[in-house]
Amino acid sequence: MTEPIHSPPPAPGGAPGGGVPAGRVPGAGAAGGRVSDGGVPGGAVADGRAPLAEPPAGPLLVCAPLRFEARAIRRGLRDSARAGGGTGRGDAGSPTVMRTGYGSVRAARHAEKVREGSFGMLAITGTGAGLAPVLRPGDLVVASEVTSVGDGGPGDGPALRSPSAPLLAGELRRAGLRAHAGRVATVDYLVRGAERDRLAQKGMMAADMESAQLAAAAGGCPLAVIRAISDTADRPLLHPGVLAGGLSALRSLRAAGPVLDRWAAACGPRRVLLAGPRSFCAGVERAIEIVERVLAQRGSPVYVRKQIVHNTHVVHDLEQRGAIFVDELDEVPDGAPVVFSAHGVSPAVRQEAAQRELSVVDATCPLVAKVHKEALRFAADGYLVALIGHNGHEEVEGTLGEAPGSTVLIETAEDVAALRPKDEGKVAYLMQTTLAADEAEGMAGALLDRFPAARGPGSDDICYATTNRQQAARVVAAEADLVLVAGSANSSNSRRLVETAERAGTPAHLIDGPEDIQLGWLAGVSTVGLTAGASAPPAVVSEIIDALGGFGPVEVAERVTTTESIRFSLPKEVRH
Ligand code: SF4
Repeated sequence: MTEPIHSPPPAPGGAPGGGVPAGRVPGAGAAGGRVSDGGVPGGAVADGRAPLAEPPAGPLLVCAPLRFEARAIRRGLRDSARAGGGTGRGDAGSPTVMRTGYGSVRAARHAEKVREGSFGMLAITGTGAGLAPVLRPGDLVVASEVTSVGDGGPGDGPALRSPSAPLLAGELRRAGLRAHAGRVATVDYLVRGAERDRLAQKGMMAADMESAQLAAAAGGCPLAVIRAISDTADRPLLHPGVLAGGLSALRSLRAAGPVLDRWAAACGPRRVLLAGPRSFCAGVERAIEIVERVLAQRGSPVYVRKQIVHNTHVVHDLEQRGAIFVDELDEVPDGAPVVFSAHGVSPAVRQEAAQRELSVVDATCPLVAKVHKEALRFAADGYLVALIGHNGHEEVEGTLGEAPGSTVLIETAEDVAALRPKDEGKVAYLMQTTLAADEAEGMAGALLDRFPAARGPGSDDICYATTNRQQAARVVAAEADLVLVAGSANSSNSRRLVETAERAGTPAHLIDGPEDIQLGWLAGVSTVGLTAGASAPPAVVSEIIDALGGFGPVEVAERVTTTESIRFSLPKEVRH
């Protein structure tokens, strides 16, 4: 019942179909993770120079319980092979599909055969019952963990983790499928009626009858579990629409084949080089703490003008706790507390708040406030202020608003050439705090070429956090095959980190979380540089490392270029 998708080469280090080859590298998936991380929970930090463990010593083995499920996934894998999929698999060989039979007893029996097989990665597929109300027939559930669940008693088995689930679900969504990462329950009975609710209340997203037994056979190898939903609470097993649901599930399984092939191609041991410093800066920590304190003092809702910092996780978390983010003050009810974001506001916004007698707490970063003061000082002294920055960014809008008649935005060399100051001896320049240092210096140089007497800020406008994170990103980029930057798309300093790594000659990508990592980026990549913008929470970095551990053993090392100890005091309104 085990069939190769196309003729595989002999598995290196072991006879095809024989026992587990010597030197198989256990992944961090089913075994619960071998990720270590300096500064991230988990243990010792590798020095980053030791040779990596051997790559997967065998092909992808896909288990599917029933003939039609095996056929669907086999067709999907053939589609992938025809399209030249699986790039980066190296010598691991082509995937094979094993039909493992219906129900937990047959699954347990086949798990023995799986253990004896020669494979480098294990995938378990098939149809399943939807438990979460969000699911529809044809949806795919990628198991973050699989648990054998008893029939009401305390007899649940151990949870077997599949840390790469968020990436796999993200890749399936990018392939146009409706995919979710969540917990899967394996039961030994058909799930009906109130049983769906009982399992859903346990936090299970889907149920099947085989995955837990088969997943236990993965040992330390990377593990993926994908279940295509055939029936849901709305369309249970005896519903007239269940046949259509089953066909929809099989179509989704087939479409998942190429994605599974890419997942296998991305598997292998990896080194993660963490840039230090990374993640939250003092200004972001202060801004978040201000919102938390206002919530604690005055209760929800607390209004925040614009995103407090540019990060979706931070904003979502604060929303859950009672913050309401608005674009303008006219959305804030009279008398309500309102927090100004870390990026600062123009005097016009302050005046509007004062006129409406709103209860304002200002979370503007002190380093942004410093640039505002410089703009005011230069303008008061009769200077034309050239603000080097990016159009539309909230910080730039706020700084431009300090002296709008005397300040112009400079984004390009053409903007410098177009400057027409009244007095060429009275030109000054300032910078947005989150620019790439080399890019901003280039602009300042162009300005000084044209106006040699131009005055700059008293001390660097590009803040310490931006400078430090770029320096560390440059160092890890020099050693890495790929750089991942945790941060949201609207985060200026995070985007500059991507550019910094790219300028160092390494492909780099901005990701909000593990689900944004494209499997194709990882194929053939042995060293991943990892950093995070100043607004990205440290927890996201941990999640990314954990998810990478689902592709094989991960060694984590850190490259610390400097340490930071800066703290900013809180505004008086929330100090006590
Ligand atoms: S990145 Fe710099 S300017 Fe922005 S909040 Fe952090 S410390 Fe302040």
